Amino acid sequence: MNELERQEAAELARRAARAAGVGEEVRAGAEVRAEGLARPEPVEDDRQVEAALRPRRLDEFVGQERVREQLSLLLDSAQQRGRPPDHVLLSGAPGLGKTSLAMIIAAELGAGIRITSGPAMERAGDLVALVTSLVEGEVLFIDEIHRIARPAEELLYMAMEDFRIDVVVGKGPGSTAIPLDVPPFTLVGATTRAGLLTGPLRGRFGFTAHMEPYSPAELQRVLERSAGLLGVQLTAQGAAEVAGRSRGTPRVANRLLRRVRDYAEVRADGVVTRDVAQAALAVYDVDERGLDRLDRAVLDALVRRFGGGPVGLSTLAVAVSEERETVEEVAEPFLVRSGLIARTPRGRVATPAAWRHLGLTPPGPVGTLPLELGDAG
Ligand code: ADP
Repeated sequence: MNELERQEAAELARRAARAAGVGEEVRAGAEVRAEGLARPEPVEDDRQVEAALRPRRLDEFVGQERVREQLSLLLDSAQQRGRPPDHVLLSGAPGLGKTSLAMIIAAELGAGIRITSGPAMERAGDLVALVTSLVEGEVLFIDEIHRIARPAEELLYMAMEDFRIDVVVGKGPGSTAIPLDVPPFTLVGATTRAGLLTGPLRGRFGFTAHMEPYSPAELQRVLERSAGLLGVQLTAQGAAEVAGRSRGTPRVANRLLRRVRDYAEVRADGVVTRDVAQAALAVYDVDERGLDRLDRAVLDALVRRFGGGPVGLSTLAVAVSEERETVEEVAEPFLVRSGLIARTPRGRVATPAAWRHLGLTPPGPVGTLPLELGDAG
């Protein structure tokens, strides 16, 4: 390839970058973060508060001990070798800290971070624009990486493996592929659906971390840290109460903390005690297991209308007047994890715990003696 072609390809990539507005999102994100940090008083916008509460370094990141230890080894050894670390895949439910970890990886490396998401990578050009504008050593964070479009994904393989991509110039038989160098970078991919990732993409990550829900004790530490940052007075029992209803998820814990803080300020003396937390969460329809209105509606329909199931997801969604996706992605994962719903080949089934949670007696298995009788005998 001659110099002219190389320049043309580079110009194409630059133009694509401008057209795609790559970098804008990143700068906007950085401003939000900076603002969140600069203002000590509580800021009300959810995104700003979330940014202000993000742990900045690995040792501020609560819980996930194994992932933290593995990551810290990966980062230390990369730094010793003076090379960007292997690409990292983070999988786990929303709100468990994947974005925070990606930012921490960049901070620990002293590197910049570019943030984008799978759905924003619709065409191969989007990816070309992005990777060719990276600075050496930068971290590229792609959230929801399982949703990246196939042509962009195929280019990503090359960029990840060889730090090179082929830009196709022209159309039809006369088109030529011009290789462009990509500065060495570390990709951090996040996904809530690791199972949807293609084999070739998954295989190109040198390190995969699966993030698990947090224990109530860990969530209590998250809450105490956040309360300190937001200037909320939170007793240990108040923190335990909120932690127990936070669905194993720091984002939920932080959100509930802000709601109980509101309640404490308006209806109590500003201190979040256990009683205040209980009263506040009753107002916001969050029950003692952390189920909200939608979760309970799903459970209620399954048990009361369909006798405990099995019932198909679409039918269940119609029964609670929600989109199928909302039920499947918002309510169901937590209900399944809590052991209240089971997925079977014939549909969703309420477990005995679900009946009991609604204050009802679970029906005995058909054709067997009721348990109580067995016990008595
Ligand atoms: P994800 O990208 O997995 O959806 P985020 O990284 O955006 O999750 O985390 C959501 C919020 O939860 C963050 O603003 C942060 O304040 C909090 N958070 C998540 N994980 C932790 C953690 N391990 N320690 C402290 N706070 C956390």
